[in-house]
Amino acid sequence: MTLDQSRIDELRAQPVAPGQNFIDGQPCAAGDGAVMPVISPIDGTKLTELAASGAADVDRAVASARHAFDAGHWSELAPVERKRILQRWADLIEAQALELAVLGARDNGTDIRSALKGEPLSAAQTIRFYAEAIDKRNGEITPTRSDVLSLIDREPVGVVGVITPWNFPLMIGAWKLAPALAAGNSVVIKPSEEASLSTLRIVQLAHEAGVPPGVLNAVTGRGIDVGAAMGLHMDIDVLAFTGSGGVGRRLMEYSAQSNLKRVYLELGGKSPNIVFPDAPDLDRAAAETAASIFRNNGQVCVAASRLIVHRDIHDDFLANVREHAQAMKIGDPLDLSLSTGALANAAQLDKTQSAVSRALEEGASLWTGGHQLHADSGGFYHEPTVLTGVTSAMDIAQNEVFGPVLAARSFDTEDEAVAIANETIYGLSSVVWSRDISRAHRMSRRIKSGTVQVNCFSGADVTSPLGGVKQSGNGSDRSLHALEKYENLKATWIQL
Ligand code: NAD
Repeated sequence: MTLDQSRIDELRAQPVAPGQNFIDGQPCAAGDGAVMPVISPIDGTKLTELAASGAADVDRAVASARHAFDAGHWSELAPVERKRILQRWADLIEAQALELAVLGARDNGTDIRSALKGEPLSAAQTIRFYAEAIDKRNGEITPTRSDVLSLIDREPVGVVGVITPWNFPLMIGAWKLAPALAAGNSVVIKPSEEASLSTLRIVQLAHEAGVPPGVLNAVTGRGIDVGAAMGLHMDIDVLAFTGSGGVGRRLMEYSAQSNLKRVYLELGGKSPNIVFPDAPDLDRAAAETAASIFRNNGQVCVAASRLIVHRDIHDDFLANVREHAQAMKIGDPLDLSLSTGALANAAQLDKTQSAVSRALEEGASLWTGGHQLHADSGGFYHEPTVLTGVTSAMDIAQNEVFGPVLAARSFDTEDEAVAIANETIYGLSSVVWSRDISRAHRMSRRIKSGTVQVNCFSGADVTSPLGGVKQSGNGSDRSLHALEKYENLKATWIQL
């Protein structure tokens, strides 16, 4: 799609309607009428309002989802029919892709190019992937005694709760909504209060596409109100979450305190990016190193926030990365002449600034960046920042910033690189640059992370799983395997 600045400007000039819940096929306010402000990351002004819902609203949405599930208008629909409706949903999202991307960028500050490709277009691709898959899954017959027919079938689990973060709400939302709905479940989604508007819009589009009332509901509000009520709910069967480790831990506790619902967690990362001197193209490696941490201001779960570079090339490589960092144009996310937008909210800007200050206090050196930008705009902007001389004991080496901060250090041997890569509590993603195929395979086996990318930082796509090991989560999103999270296995044993 060709992007046109005048069309983007037209869309941004439109007022943004308040965000309402969507329950039983209808938009509605929170039961007690409470609202909360939505603050623009572009200039810190109030963009609109959002329903500030509570436990009673979650109860209504879950009751509607359960009723729809039991009625069978979706759960018992032939998979080929669900497929047609989901495909229509993807068509509607694509038809409104620019409107959705501009709305999302105004809500969370992502630059319009990433907001378009990474959000509506990616969500539509994901929905099509699961729509296409669902009428091609067969049950199984198990080999057993000749006088018995033993069948394994897959059933939808019932009501699925989905809780999403603010960085890529449509992309991450679709990774959960699409397989859950394709498998025949009803869903209640709670988007982040920092970026709910585009999710509310695609939930409405699902109904326009033919998803029956009650099958897909959205409830907005604070995590501690809406998210906790979902975590503790006795009638949600599976909860799929992407967000921070702290909240993920809470959700497991809520499950233990309520109905032992299955809880799938996609959490944070501190992903290593290891550069050997025999990388196939060190210039490209430097460009992709910068992109991997500075794209969307580092607010990417798989951001390669730790650069581990061989001592022989350390200085030259870092000089190259610095050129890319300094060439980035940060500012208004809706300005096509700029490369990167705003941090999503004031708290992210504070977190970024504190992380840089602490690293400097602990002995790291500032290689480039380190400061807030455009403070007079009222928005939340920060320079792409590289810190060097990082050691394992520093906070910046261990803890996720989720901001545009790269922590760099050198290594001498392959064993040392592996030890550094594996030294955090996280294990989401990693990158290795080397043209030695044996080393690439060795590294891939030895690094403890859900994904290893060799000679690229691609971000991969819906066809391959995205999930963490260690404290980065459990149960991957994406790929055909993700359908299994939203299904139960049913065994039927027939005595012949
Ligand atoms: P967050 O954990 O603060 O919030 C995520 C969601 O949880 C929001 O909808 C929030 O309202 C809700 N929530 C907050 N408190 C809650 C509670 N007590 N009970 C239930 N729900 C609650 O995370 P965030 O700041 O929105 O997102 C950033 C984090 O997400 C980072 O750690 C990042 O790495 C992670 N992330 C991971 C992936 C992945 O695929 N692994 C992708 C994107 C982001």
